Amino acid sequence: MSIPFSNPLPVPVLGFCAYSGTGKTTLLKQLIPELNRRGVRLAVIKHAHHNFDVDIPGKDSYEMRKAGARQMLVASHVRWALMTEDAVEGDPQLPHLLRQIEADRVDMVLVEGFKKLELPKIELHRAAHGKPFIHTHDDNILAVACCDETVLPAEITRLDLNNISEIADFVQQYAANWQPKAVTMPIVPACEQNSDNTSSVAHGIGYILSCVSPITDCETVTLDEMDNRVLAADAISPVDVPQQTNSAMDGYAFALSTSHSEYQLVGEVLAGHGYAGTLKPGEAVRIMTGAPLPAGADTVQPKELATEQGDIVTFDGALELGQNVRLAGEDIAKGATALATGSRLGAAEIGLLASLGTASASVVRKPVVAVFSTGDEVSQPGQALAEHCIYDSNRYTIKSMARRLGCEVIDLGIIEDSDAALEAALTDAASKADVIISSGGVSVGNADFIKTVLARIGKINFWRINMRPGRPLAFGQIGDALLFGLPGNPVAVMVSFLQFVQPALRKLAGETNWETPFIPAITDEKLRSRSGRTEFLRGIYRMGDDGQLHVVTTGAQGSGMLSSMVNGNCLIILGEEVDCAAPGERVFIQPFANLL
Ligand code: AMP
Ligand code: MG
Repeated sequence: MSIPFSNPLPVPVLGFCAYSGTGKTTLLKQLIPELNRRGVRLAVIKHAHHNFDVDIPGKDSYEMRKAGARQMLVASHVRWALMTEDAVEGDPQLPHLLRQIEADRVDMVLVEGFKKLELPKIELHRAAHGKPFIHTHDDNILAVACCDETVLPAEITRLDLNNISEIADFVQQYAANWQPKAVTMPIVPACEQNSDNTSSVAHGIGYILSCVSPITDCETVTLDEMDNRVLAADAISPVDVPQQTNSAMDGYAFALSTSHSEYQLVGEVLAGHGYAGTLKPGEAVRIMTGAPLPAGADTVQPKELATEQGDIVTFDGALELGQNVRLAGEDIAKGATALATGSRLGAAEIGLLASLGTASASVVRKPVVAVFSTGDEVSQPGQALAEHCIYDSNRYTIKSMARRLGCEVIDLGIIEDSDAALEAALTDAASKADVIISSGGVSVGNADFIKTVLARIGKINFWRINMRPGRPLAFGQIGDALLFGLPGNPVAVMVSFLQFVQPALRKLAGETNWETPFIPAITDEKLRSRSGRTEFLRGIYRMGDDGQLHVVTTGAQGSGMLSSMVNGNCLIILGEEVDCAAPGERVFIQPFANLL
């Protein structure tokens, strides 16, 4: 009986269902102000069974609608309403209705009715009504709000119908845990929608991440193929690491005892070998680093602090029980999670897996990234440069950064300046790649034809990000692929990649333990920005004589000067609230680390 439903919005949708007369509207009338009080901005969709009207005869809007306007929008400075004559067969379609909501203006949508949809819902129930339950035949019921008399199976979350605050807690928790299932593209950008589509860096990143669903395909690779891949399942240690209690030093192993000042040498243990017997009090063995501690021994003294005379050994200095002994499982215990799902595998992680005896692991499929350039002036390196032209550098910086993030790259080259060529290339790329990245031609007022083609064949938002360099940014979807239209200027391309594309590719790749690094450093130079804009200056950081990180700029900061990226080792970030920083002040930097 249930009808599939998929939420087209980047915000959660939660339904309330009950047989009529249970008090859905009464509950929502109390819940809405409670959620508002908690700062949750709501939209509500209600299903009506009868032929309702919100307009009244005599009103201009009513008369114009009756005169035949299929859609009638009436607006004042306080509200607007769109009335659509929709003689659909059967029930109205919830996804269609949801798409009418301005998703950037609300945090969640509450839906009353649409009982039969596969929509997460709270069921309302009053025992006194004697009506059947809905949860018994609907798997989408998350909780039942009911009265004390209602009898529920223990596994169903029970809410008190009269406890609005408890229900509001549940709704907020649901919204907090909600994740968009698939890439969802709202009609309007979820960034602060100023009329000129301006957005802050943080809003842009947040919105982009809300559209990225991690890749779920995985494959098994061997230790030698793991570098820079992302683990698709927890690596559980099948063994104790170290496997045996062993010596951390070359020296002597014995059972520490206050009653002995000298020990009888009874043997020798080498790494990879064992000692057959059990040491008795007063006995010691010569032991090598990594060799298993004989039974009975608990302490190791390094050979530099010991004196051997015949078969007697004496020790210098204080002895501490357990010193220089590595206990079995002290690094990783058998059964413990050695590496969690979502870990990016580097030298240390791969070594750790090897140390567990693991020869292969399940990793997430590599994201596939298609890259292309456009622009009349953009030419292929290696070929003679025509007058007024420039060489294509962006495709190479983008490809390099994408590969360093573990992506498979498809190079679409410089796409010829024709509508048909671009459309064909993009449609093809969208079928092969998870992400398409272009550069150039996306700034507001830019006449480049790429904007028209993108807008036609995809759902693309053209933003102006309050940042420098890198103001224009296009982001959206073509077919099943995400598209990033980066600015044209070479430094702007790299900075926008680091800020927007990098987090998206990492999330797509399944990486969970990554955060943009922000490291405090002292500026040795006066830095200027503009309030309301985030400035990304190319900087050089180094350790100062005072033991603190210091940073200077690389000099001229033109957004076309790639040499500033070469000479720098970090971005200096002056946030929106900062308009300048005096020498000696603390600023934040993002080291390029190994990404560039
Ligand atoms: P646009 O946003 O297309 O106006 O480009 C801004 C600047 O970036 C112009 O100076 C372009 O010549 C330059 N540019 C665009 N694409 C590339 C590219 N692939 N490589 C290097 N520079 C580029
Ligand atoms: Mg251009």
